[in-house]
Amino acid sequence: MSNIVAIVGRPNVGKSTLFNRFLERREAIVDSTAGVTRDRHYGKSDWNGVEFTVIDTGGYEVDTEDAFQGEIIKQVELAVDEATSIIFMLNVAEGLTDTDIEIHEMLRRSNKPVYIVVNKADSAKEELAATEFYQLGIPKYYTMSSATGSGTGELLDDIVKDFPTTEYKDPFEGLPKITIAGRPNVGKSTLTNALLDKEQNIVTDVAGTTRDSIQTLYNKFGHEFVLVDTAGMRRKAKVKEDLEFYSVMRAVRSIEYSDIVIIMVDATLGWESQDMNIFGLAQKNRKGIVIVVNKWDLVEKETNTTRDFEARIKEKIGQFTDIPILFVSALTKQRILKTVEVAMEVYQNRAKKIKTSKLNEVMLPVFEATPPPALKGKYVKIKYCVQLPTPSPQFVFFCNLPQYVKEAYKRFTENQLRKHFGFTGVPIEIYFRQK
Ligand code: GDP
Ligand code: GDP
Repeated sequence: MSNIVAIVGRPNVGKSTLFNRFLERREAIVDSTAGVTRDRHYGKSDWNGVEFTVIDTGGYEVDTEDAFQGEIIKQVELAVDEATSIIFMLNVAEGLTDTDIEIHEMLRRSNKPVYIVVNKADSAKEELAATEFYQLGIPKYYTMSSATGSGTGELLDDIVKDFPTTEYKDPFEGLPKITIAGRPNVGKSTLTNALLDKEQNIVTDVAGTTRDSIQTLYNKFGHEFVLVDTAGMRRKAKVKEDLEFYSVMRAVRSIEYSDIVIIMVDATLGWESQDMNIFGLAQKNRKGIVIVVNKWDLVEKETNTTRDFEARIKEKIGQFTDIPILFVSALTKQRILKTVEVAMEVYQNRAKKIKTSKLNEVMLPVFEATPPPALKGKYVKIKYCVQLPTPSPQFVFFCNLPQYVKEAYKRFTENQLRKHFGFTGVPIEIYFRQK
């Protein structure tokens, strides 16, 4: 279960500066996934070994105070719905504003832990000025200079200390967990309902702890699986959340809880940037992916329509294209069974563990035949490989000069793994290490 920290506050207070500070140290070390574009609003960080997700809610802000009724309300609602902890950021240079007071009022009613941070406290002078914020009636605030990073340690100590510690008991431990993500109106609810017909019985509905994720157990077509759905996804927004940022962030928790993400695309609209963002989230979280093009009943079909549509999607999604793409109609229930079957296959692929002996037997001759290109007269010799016991496939290749193995050769290695062992729909991590 992942803890999610959201940063809210008026434009220009320093939210993205702090967000970047949280992310940069870690990304340099861990986030090696090739071809995943850096998300400006979503990422993972950790403090003293505790991992958490960070969301910068300032997705699409406008630079005026009267933006409050629109954007800032949405930001705060997003944070309240999706986050475990909320950082409310204020700017000492500007002092307390009416908007700050209103945001604080919304957060106070939320029952989530809120950490009030007075930013841009670059010197003692600002530290003193910060006392103005006691007007909010708060017992404590943190002063910070997110530009230099001072003050972030104390804040993170407290946030991490307050994370819920009660061990979450997964009632469906070991069963495949699927979430259906996609833009509003693509047909997510229609597919969910199509999976649930008369003979179908839902065994249990479990509201998972305080994070109100709904997990529904399905037993359909001889497959048992759990659909994961969070409050944020189900919420019919009070304000229209037409901006892609919000609807993508609404999927964050569901994706993190799942093994498989069905990315649903509207056939009449095609693959757009919002779909790409959801794809990026799933990939970054190393989840199995199935792309489902829905409303296929509305498309005029000619000989190559499917093939062309598929090719267009693959062109847009970048390097990781070994992904099943299905053309369905949730409304007429066309290829619903196929969707479930393919999702189960991807689940199996993600859980697959290749025996070390088999892995070496297959991969060492591949490296022998096509070694990494020599660099500065030096030859890389790959001697041994193992798959790590992680939830999604990760491989370590031991060699003499790992720093000489370039991106292109890592991709070659990944493609060979896919070709020989079958990891369709699953992101793979590859590491070259010194033997
Ligand atoms: P956001 O709109 O809330 O995401 O704010 P940004 O992170 O984009 O920051 C707005 C401006 O404030 C930028 O020019 C930052 O460089 C600056 N800034 C951010 N944090 C600090 C700080 O701690 N001290 C000072 N002096 N400037 C800061
Ligand atoms: P959601 O917002 O993603 O949950 O989308 P809904 O399931 O509410 O569907 C939005 C609209 O698209 C509804 O009017 C559905 O009847 C319609 N719809 C969903 N799936 C299909 C489909 O396969 N074919 C057609 N023609 N319409 C669909």
